[in-house]
Amino acid sequence: MRMWIRALAIASAIALAACAATTTTSVQTSTPTAEATPTPRAQVFDGARAFQHVVAQMNLGPRPAGSAANRATGDYILARLAESKWKTETQEFVFRNVPVRNLIGKTAEGRGPVIIVGAHYDTRPRADQDKSHPDQPVPGANDGASGVAVLLELARTLDLAKLKNQVWLAFFDAEDNGDLAGCIVAPPPCDNAPWTWSAGATYLADNLRVKPEAVVIVDMIGDANQNIYYEQNSDAQLQPELWGIAARLGYTREFVPEYKHSLSDDHTPFLKRGLRAVDIIDFDYPYWHTTQDTTDKVSAASLERVGRVLQVWLENGPAVK
Ligand SMILES: [Zn+2]
Repeated sequence: MRMWIRALAIASAIALAACAATTTTSVQTSTPTAEATPTPRAQVFDGARAFQHVVAQMNLGPRPAGSAANRATGDYILARLAESKWKTETQEFVFRNVPVRNLIGKTAEGRGPVIIVGAHYDTRPRADQDKSHPDQPVPGANDGASGVAVLLELARTLDLAKLKNQVWLAFFDAEDNGDLAGCIVAPPPCDNAPWTWSAGATYLADNLRVKPEAVVIVDMIGDANQNIYYEQNSDAQLQPELWGIAARLGYTREFVPEYKHSLSDDHTPFLKRGLRAVDIIDFDYPYWHTTQDTTDKVSAASLERVGRVLQVWLENGPAVK
């Protein structure tokens, strides 16, 4: 993801007090009945479970597009989706000599217009914002693993009976090579022209056979010191709707309904096609594109807040159509 214009920094101290929140899990009790097949309990998005998906991805090492670890990450995602009984599809193509694979989990087909919730699963092969180690890869605990973790826990917990739309969980490859020299990203034969951002999401957007009602991207949302502002290119009606749900859930400190950064991210190819798209992103992350983007910077509570907002939104259906 790339910053277009950085608005004047709003005092980040406002959010510093928020980091120590512990995960709360509301347990729903079901009334025992004599039925042979009891109604399954509705699942609630669990930040601790989502966090385990961050750990699992980090255990694979850096996961740039075209690497063995990237392939293993994709296989992990497909396995978790299948466990949660989601239909899975892959989109494979070669972009500038790098094999790229998008993964899509689908549910509630035929229920209504498609809603896409997306995250990238590749990580950046160079920590070019790192003053000490710019040639090392980005570990990608927040920039990569956090969004995937939220989507996988959503796959487990969404109450499919409540969905009013067909839902796709899209896991994009090759988001985070942007502006790197081609021969850093690709094996020979390569050229050194700068790579584009969001190669995977662009491919999915260009090959859509349906018109999604909405596209919501989550990226870098796991920061323990979480502050998520409106993003300037995102859909102006969907943002208040999502942030409004966050406010009702009590997340007013972390979801700030004010415009701040202007970003190019996986929502951009959908916006370019005239679709309603939002980037839920916490760009106030000092470890962005550094070797310090590690698991200790991510919290279960942050993953849980984003997951619960999306769960409520998807289970109630978008208000703005
Ligand atoms: Zn990135």
